[in-house]
Amino acid sequence: MVPVIDVFKCNGCGACVKRCPPKIIGLIKDKAVILVQLCEECGICAEVCPIKAIHFKVPYAGIVETHEAYAVKR
Ligand code: SF4
Ligand code: SF4
Repeated sequence: MVPVIDVFKCNGCGACVKRCPPKIIGLIKDKAVILVQLCEECGICAEVCPIKAIHFKVPYAGIVETHEAYAVKR
């Protein structure tokens, strides 16, 4: 599962940015953006978001092929 930001909900508070252990969340135009290929899937970002603007979803087939956890077996 990978975290996904709802950019229309995100208010740029920065809580997820501060708490992400590998520091892979940043703010662009006051919206949180995640380097999902480096995500450790700990779930902390979703837990600390005060307005529930982060949810987890199964990645689309193929978009994260470089992520070990989702490598497609051929
Ligand atoms: S799930 Fe964990 S590692 Fe991944 S973006 Fe959220 S806080 Fe960072
Ligand atoms: S904690 Fe939620 S509202 Fe705050 S920057 Fe992160 S996604 Fe946006």
